[in-house]
Amino acid sequence: MNDYLVKALAYDGQIRAYAVRTTDVVSEAQRRHDTWRTASAALGRTLTAGVMMGAMLKGENKLTIKIDGGGPIGVILVDSNAKGEVRGYVSNPHVDFEANEHGKLDVRRAVGVTGTLSVVKDVGMRDFFSGQVPIVSGELGEDFTYYFATSEQVPSSVGVGVLVNPDDSILAAGGFIFQLMPGIKDATITKVEERLKTISPISQLVKQGLTPEEILEELFGKEQVNILEKMPVQFKCVCSKERFADAIIGLGTKEIEDMIIEDGQAEAHCHFCNEKYLFTKEELEDLKTQAK
Ligand SMILES: [Zn+2]
Repeated sequence: MNDYLVKALAYDGQIRAYAVRTTDVVSEAQRRHDTWRTASAALGRTLTAGVMMGAMLKGENKLTIKIDGGGPIGVILVDSNAKGEVRGYVSNPHVDFEANEHGKLDVRRAVGVTGTLSVVKDVGMRDFFSGQVPIVSGELGEDFTYYFATSEQVPSSVGVGVLVNPDDSILAAGGFIFQLMPGIKDATITKVEERLKTISPISQLVKQGLTPEEILEELFGKEQVNILEKMPVQFKCVCSKERFADAIIGLGTKEIEDMIIEDGQAEAHCHFCNEKYLFTKEELEDLKTQAK
């Protein structure tokens, strides 16, 4: 089964909901960045929330999530768009700790609890929306819940989970976001709160192999869920050798000349996907002729 996301309504449109399977997305991130277990969970949870938040956008809109919690993994940066494409990295991928008191990966310790979670949405026409909240938990699901309530004024619930094998590979990953629509009945809120108390944590639901549709059915009851749309999601970076070539041209003749003299070549590195692009002396000479 490949990764995909569903958009849905529940309780006759009183709730808007998203659920996603991101096992392949997080596996790709883990492989590219060689993240250790706790770092994989932190990055994976953010990629999972990010791909769902991207799905809330339209057309060519995109967003960037930056989590800087002051912990040992440093900054988590995730980019996503409305097409189900997401990419991201952490400053220090080689972070792992003993399990916490609940027997789970200690994401809070890796992320830290002293910094901020910020979101910048590029909604086109050079229009940006940005919001920033303090880290309240460090476990990330609660932090995104707090972000929606505070920065976007939409009462929401965010659940994100990543399970990692002892050999660092990803066993399962996924999550959900649901949002209460204006005018929701108190009785509906009570019902959902009751169900939330009794269902298993999201990581368990994903481990059990529940599809995104089934996760929403767990949350709201089978008869209450109305699936609107299903879309594939993937780890995808926009970098290319051409883009880096353009950036090198932009540095100007003098700068390129220095590179040729000092190193005889240049290596460009994409932080988001850890891809490296080598430019030979001949290629740099060619770029130099195109520069000013
Ligand atoms: Zn890249």
